[in-house]
Amino acid sequence: MRLTRCPRCLAEDISADAHPSRRLVDATPVTFFVCRDCYRAAELEFQISCESSNIGYARLPIRESLRLLRGFYQDRLRESPDDGRVTEALQEVERRLLIGPVERTSKLDA
Ligand SMILES: [Zn+2]
Repeated sequence: MRLTRCPRCLAEDISADAHPSRRLVDATPVTFFVCRDCYRAAELEFQISCESSNIGYARLPIRESLRLLRGFYQDRLRESPDDGRVTEALQEVERRLLIGPVERTSKLDA
């Protein structure tokens, strides 16, 4: 079973629990995947670097996040086809992609 470390804290294994955030590389937003604990801080850092570079900051749309996650887990599954945690995480993302629009509405209601 292969571990994929969170690139920010270099501690957590994000193979089956990744969170898409972004960072600026040569003034261009680039997606990278971090652990649950790093996610908020990574987004805040991205927001601050956008502001200091005069680049408009917008949250990543939920469906875009889910699509990125699907690709990430599909890559992990190619590396470790027997890792049940990754299979489960991928299934969860695919399930949420199917109900995405419903979820967005219920979030507005909350
Ligand atoms: Zn982390």
